[in-house]
Amino acid sequence: MNNEEVLTLPDTQNADGVVITQEVSQQRQVAWGRLWRNKYVQNNVDLIKDEYTVGRSASCDICLMKQKLKLQLLNIVSKVHFKISRTYLSDCEEDPIVYLEDCSHNGTYVNKTLVGSGKRVVLENNDVISISIPGFTAYTFMTTKALDGSGLPSVLKHKYAISRTLGTGACGTVKLIFSKIGCKKYAMKMITKKSQASNGGKHPLNDPEKIMNEVRILKALKHPCIIRMEEIVDTPSTVYIILELMEGGELFERIRSKQRLSEKCAKLIFYQVILAVHYLHESGITHRDLKPENILLASDDDVTLVKVSDFGLSKLLDSETMMKTFCGTPMYVAPEILLTGGKGAYTKQVDVWSLGVILYCCLSGRVPFNMHHSKISLQDQIVRGMYNFPPVFDHISENAKDLIRSMLTVNPGKRITISKVLLHPWLRDREMRETVNSLIREAHDENSSPTSRIRYGQ
Ligand code: ADP
Repeated sequence: MNNEEVLTLPDTQNADGVVITQEVSQQRQVAWGRLWRNKYVQNNVDLIKDEYTVGRSASCDICLMKQKLKLQLLNIVSKVHFKISRTYLSDCEEDPIVYLEDCSHNGTYVNKTLVGSGKRVVLENNDVISISIPGFTAYTFMTTKALDGSGLPSVLKHKYAISRTLGTGACGTVKLIFSKIGCKKYAMKMITKKSQASNGGKHPLNDPEKIMNEVRILKALKHPCIIRMEEIVDTPSTVYIILELMEGGELFERIRSKQRLSEKCAKLIFYQVILAVHYLHESGITHRDLKPENILLASDDDVTLVKVSDFGLSKLLDSETMMKTFCGTPMYVAPEILLTGGKGAYTKQVDVWSLGVILYCCLSGRVPFNMHHSKISLQDQIVRGMYNFPPVFDHISENAKDLIRSMLTVNPGKRITISKVLLHPWLRDREMRETVNSLIREAHDENSSPTSRIRYGQ
């Protein structure tokens, strides 16, 4: 079965508009849904029959033995682990109800919630199915209707299937999408255009030339620690940006969940961020909005690749929207930006200041400037460079604290530059640099390996 067949349903109505049974059964020969593989299994499966059994046994419709699972995962899969079936409540019903029945010993999870042996749940578009443990995510279920890419501009509809929402940010929503050919996952950022900028002028997102200029710059950037922009589609109402997907979440969440990072772990992450920002600065680009929310991790492991995102996008926002973000919680904003209300000229040194705040956060789980200070406003603390190292820093090396001090220097002229940060003794750690190099090499090898052939169906 080829892709086209999967995505187009035959017309089931005759000239009188009456649905006839034979045609209905023909319609039901084509796929009504798809199981998109997650990283542990090898193939996607188009759902054509009314029922599918999934498990270790060779007699299952979807035999996980054939999916090249690691042995330790295969060992926790039941012979028949779960069943997926669809039922039409009546013959004229357009959409089937899809059930997942848990037939396993260890359990089947839908969206990380246990179904329970012998029980069944209704499976909905974008539900994630895990086997035996919530982390062993095998498939994402999608209905054919969703695979049609409804809501996307036609140029993207042909290429991608849209899946669940990954998050919502200041600019808009970010969705998980799958490329229909190659089955690669990406993140798609959708930015809804506003008719006017907050100052009444033309909004930068409504200026196609401005968008395309930025895009040219952003697309040309290639660095292992910078989120790659695959493509951008500009429509009258929305700008769609297809980005490399990062599956380990934001640095912000990582710090929060661990309370603070060990010095070793912080160094491994921070060095990669420095490599990215160094590259941006060398390319003549200032990020302007560096914060732990814009630093994304490739995996849940401690030793993970890190990438900086959202660079340059700030230029597509009007300055007032930008200032709102800054002034909402200017936790990472350099003093010179606050002093000029965001309107003055400032240099790439603003990024170094933000990096100083980020390193402080990584190592302590706290921010250097206190929002709840009763006497001195947050802005004043930043402008005066008022912060200290509380007891949580007692076990942190002097080198790390020295680097923070050099970055959190109020005078941008005296603040350390990104090239000098790279040479700072805290980051001259051979073992850490070798680990980063091998992470970068592995990611490069993975990306350059020939894309596995797509196989629809069994
Ligand atoms: P903001 O504009 O406020 O920085 P974003 O729009 O960049 O926020 O991101 C919104 C959400 O989408 C965040 O939770 C972020 O983790 C997620 N996200 C953004 N880009 C990616 C990506 N490339 N891969 C995975 N998740 C992403």
